[in-house]
Amino acid sequence: MGYNLQVTIDKDSGFCFGVVYAIDMAEEILEQDGYLYCLGDIVHNDEEVARLKAKGLRIIGHDQLPALKNEKVLIRAHGEAPDTYRIALENNITLIDASCPVVLKLQNRVKTSYDQQEKIFIYGKHGHAEVIGLQGQTNGEAVVFQDIAELDGVELPNSFTLYSQTTKSVDKFYAIKDELLSRGYDVKANDTICRQVSNRYEDLGAFAVRFDKVVFVSGKKSSNGRVLYDVCLRSNPNSYFVSDPSELRRENFRPGETVGVCGATSTPMWLMEQVKATLEGF
Ligand code: SF4
Repeated sequence: MGYNLQVTIDKDSGFCFGVVYAIDMAEEILEQDGYLYCLGDIVHNDEEVARLKAKGLRIIGHDQLPALKNEKVLIRAHGEAPDTYRIALENNITLIDASCPVVLKLQNRVKTSYDQQEKIFIYGKHGHAEVIGLQGQTNGEAVVFQDIAELDGVELPNSFTLYSQTTKSVDKFYAIKDELLSRGYDVKANDTICRQVSNRYEDLGAFAVRFDKVVFVSGKKSSNGRVLYDVCLRSNPNSYFVSDPSELRRENFRPGETVGVCGATSTPMWLMEQVKATLEGF
């Protein structure tokens, strides 16, 4: 006997406009040229990357860029540091720039702050492509931290400017700002979190409470995936994180239950549909 689960996909989950833009651009060129280089994973989702690789997308690392000449290279939504543009110019590489406009705007703000000789702190994930791109605007001088504890015991300037990676949690950003202010620093805090992610908090919370169980679909590398999964868990403790349908566990479900399927801004709709189909087959 099947479980006959009642499965609903969250219609507001799935790619944000920055990712849609980058993938559309890639697919257009892949159709024309049959192949295209892309600097780093185009989206933090292995399944979507595999789909595009099969169409000719060649993912390369930053260390491979200097060896490339006279080719087209896609810059993904996270944006790039100035070094990448310089290397491309030297090597006659045509950059297909799919940097998200929200990220580009933030890069410009960070650069303007740097040019005005402000001390810059970035609340973001170490080693994340977007954060590297932001740090690049400051000649590597901006201090990156992903947890306030990293600033304990560090001598901070009396006054500094704080920015946030676009996919960080709004609540945590404001908690950090308040904490730094209460420690007596003159902090110029810029909430530069992308609303494509943060607006989903409330919507996703409201979605998650409606079901017996929730399945959140996301790549493990996606930072907004982690944040959004936490939102689901808070609204519904019976929430499960999976990267693809093979990670679903039948024993987590009971016959006749309602299940909500949702995902991150890097989760393709086709993958959520596969998860739904698998659940319906239980
Ligand atoms: S989450 Fe926001 S900043 Fe990041 S790619 Fe999507 S739209 Fe752009």
